[in-house]
Amino acid sequence: MNYHQMNEDELAKSLHTNKVTGLSNKLADERRKKVGRNELSEGEKQSAILLFFSQFKDFMVIVLLAATLISGLLGEYVDAVAIMVIVLLNGMLGFIQERKAEKSLQALKNLSAPQVTVLRDGQWSKIDSKDIVPGDILRFASGDRIGADLRIITANNLEIEESALTGESIPSVKHSDPILDENPSLGDLNNMAFMGTMVTRGNGVGIVTGTGMNTAMGNIAGMIESAQAVMTPLQRRLDQLGKILITVALFLTIIVVLVGVIHGHDVYTMFLAGVSLAVAAIPEGLPAIVTIALSLGVQRMIRKKAIVRKLPAVETLGCASVICSDKTGTMTQNKMTVTHVWSGGKTWTVSGTGYEATGDYFDQDKKVDVEREKALQQLLTFGVLCNNAEIKLEHNKLSVDGDPTEVALMIAGAKAGLDKKTLLGQFTLEKEYPFDSARKMMSVVVKNSYGDRFLITKGAPDVLTLKSEAILWDGKRKAFSPRQIDEVNKAINQLASMALRTIAIAYKPLKEGVLPERADDVEQQLTLIGLQGMIDPPRPEVQAAVSECKAAGIKTVMITGDHVETACAIAEQLGILSSGPKETKVLDGRKLNELSVEDLEKVVEDISVFARVSPEHKLKIVNALQNKGHIVAMTGDGVNDAPAIKAADIGIAMGITGTDVAKEASSLILLDDNFATIKAAIKEGRNIYENIRKFIRYLLASNVGEILVMLFAMLLSLPLPLVPIQILWVNLVTDGLPAMALGLDQPEENVMRRHPRHPKEGVFARGLGWKILSRGFLIGLVTLAAFIIIYQRDPNNLPYAQTTAFATLVMAQLIHVFDCRSEISIFSRNPFGNKYLVWAVISSALLMVAVIYIPIFQPIFHTVAIEWIDWMLILGLSAMPTFLLAGTFFSRKRK
Ligand code: ATP
Repeated sequence: MNYHQMNEDELAKSLHTNKVTGLSNKLADERRKKVGRNELSEGEKQSAILLFFSQFKDFMVIVLLAATLISGLLGEYVDAVAIMVIVLLNGMLGFIQERKAEKSLQALKNLSAPQVTVLRDGQWSKIDSKDIVPGDILRFASGDRIGADLRIITANNLEIEESALTGESIPSVKHSDPILDENPSLGDLNNMAFMGTMVTRGNGVGIVTGTGMNTAMGNIAGMIESAQAVMTPLQRRLDQLGKILITVALFLTIIVVLVGVIHGHDVYTMFLAGVSLAVAAIPEGLPAIVTIALSLGVQRMIRKKAIVRKLPAVETLGCASVICSDKTGTMTQNKMTVTHVWSGGKTWTVSGTGYEATGDYFDQDKKVDVEREKALQQLLTFGVLCNNAEIKLEHNKLSVDGDPTEVALMIAGAKAGLDKKTLLGQFTLEKEYPFDSARKMMSVVVKNSYGDRFLITKGAPDVLTLKSEAILWDGKRKAFSPRQIDEVNKAINQLASMALRTIAIAYKPLKEGVLPERADDVEQQLTLIGLQGMIDPPRPEVQAAVSECKAAGIKTVMITGDHVETACAIAEQLGILSSGPKETKVLDGRKLNELSVEDLEKVVEDISVFARVSPEHKLKIVNALQNKGHIVAMTGDGVNDAPAIKAADIGIAMGITGTDVAKEASSLILLDDNFATIKAAIKEGRNIYENIRKFIRYLLASNVGEILVMLFAMLLSLPLPLVPIQILWVNLVTDGLPAMALGLDQPEENVMRRHPRHPKEGVFARGLGWKILSRGFLIGLVTLAAFIIIYQRDPNNLPYAQTTAFATLVMAQLIHVFDCRSEISIFSRNPFGNKYLVWAVISSALLMVAVIYIPIFQPIFHTVAIEWIDWMLILGLSAMPTFLLAGTFFSRKRK
């Protein structure tokens, strides 16, 4: 179909849609059933069976299976089957863990699925982009990702970046006129927009011409980005560490085997014991548990309303030393209400709170009739006309949609009986120059019923005063004299010092003729009418979050496009800015412009508020802070924020107000746009890292203990203290559940009272390496002690001594796991505070008791029932590794 050649009516006809009301939901559902969902088909996924078998591809596991097969052939059936079962169980555990990790990553992907604004049954609403069908009418604006292939029917300054499709990174300018060319190339189809491309400027409306695989994007085979699992720095480091550990474990195992053989042990038994030891001691489960801990942490973050888009961010979060946050909506509620209006030297106040359209205007304390106050009425009327927000009265409740600043202006108008629908009966809208945060303005061109055409501009007052050459004063247009400029500035500062966000409104008569495309060419020589000041109260939870961050060594910096005074007033209320002289703590966009990154570096650490900044300043701030060695979290929502979000160590996008572009550049999305959520995510990030350290400590200390007990025994020319199946059992039971439970541990109380971690900090930093070696050494030693004591008591009953050693090893690990919960000492927190861990330990202990006492397991595990009196010895010895070193100087309380 040559949609590009058609006009609007032909388009609507051929796509069977109505350009005023869009499709009906019913028709859309029917069409979706016919053409399918608007999705690109994904590549092959690894099947569950393949994933299951991939658990057994580990070299040592293969050796073990081969060895088991040999022992089976040699007639050791029970051993062979038992080992097989344990290897199978181990594989299953790995399989379940990886499936869980995969599922949670998929759930994350679904959560950040893009949404589009669609016209259905005459109403604009947001739906998942996969529900779009051909014939749907979509509305899109700067920052949106186009959800399907569209033929554009309205374009306001529309520019779309199509590099995802064409590789061309310069955005193409779009329009809505038919293109006559029969067969234009993709790059020349400037009245079409394509799925997956990004709107970088302006806004528009289009009719969907193709969805899913039936789009330009769907046609390009191999372009579809497969979701690649990104390794986090810690995972990479652990991967390298794993290789070293494998070598060390293998080396030690070989020594154990050699020494055993030299000391007269049977070669076959030693071989099997060696392979089992290698399988047990090699921490092959570590990467999977790290992934699980990361993804479970990510799930917990979702519950706290933070979506992690890139897994490495989880770790970086724990290192953040500065949070640069937007003010509006993130630190404040973004529920704006106009409270003061100023024009021609006069200030009116407005009553009413929030999004309620009831309230009155007052001059001092006297209620006024707005119709009699011409300047006030004009100011409010223009505020409603130069506006894209919508307010509707539904079931006696006002529902609002759009930018809160604009909603506030709409409601201020409604309080004076002005509504857009009625006004549009008197004024025709000819063109819009959309708001952009670099210009800090928005304009519309309107014509009134007398045929007068003019421009209405609203925007940041300091910008608008510079663009104005006249002012409306006592109903007359006057040239801007220094006295009036002074008066306006005084009014701006006064409103701002009350923490009010201030919007100025101006106008200019326009002649007939073609309007310039660029806003800058028309937004000048304006006449200022006045100001509207609106409150935007701080979010109540932010103050506490700021002070918690401060205690955690994280500085909060406010970055805002708003006026310096407004920003400072709010920053003071939130504890970001202390009272007193502000010169060194506050920097505005103009001064920021004059500074190079190097100059900024000299002062950047002192600054707490950057006001009147444009999005491109954010990148400069990120660079300066990073050059000073900071790990920077930076928030943003618009297209222009994307470079800074990308450059920051943790780029954060807003879930509600954020554009698709900002979201895609980010590594973290705040579902509720709330600053306090950043703090919660940082806390969670720190906790996840600490939990990973906890189970690394636990697993490695256990493995050191297992190897050492065998090594010491062989060196002392003793019999094997543990038979292969026992070693494998210890590996399966103690490493499985308790290690996972540590991954779910609650943060230590002081987690937000420490300084941020250094990003280059090694896995074994802060005494962890020592703890692993010392505890591991002791676990090995006490297990050996238990074995020797019992063996010497009765050298003819080797299985009894081995069972005692087995029980001591298990118990020593199960007690040690509680010590791993704290970096300080086992006594610093309630050891039973993690209920998952308590249950994991209880079930592991019960399983141990089962293999010792239930007769059918005894021949399989080579165990015999232990007399209760010997449990005193076992428990006494197994408690030693944990309690002997608790409270030594290595466990000193850290700052
Ligand atoms: P933040 O604190 O998130 O940076 P901000 O809203 O102050 O928020 P911008 O959205 O970049 O930052 O707005 C900059 C300035 O532009 C505002 O202070 C206001 O004066 C003006 N402004 C904001 N929204 C509009 C709008 N819809 N139309 C016209 N001017 C606006």
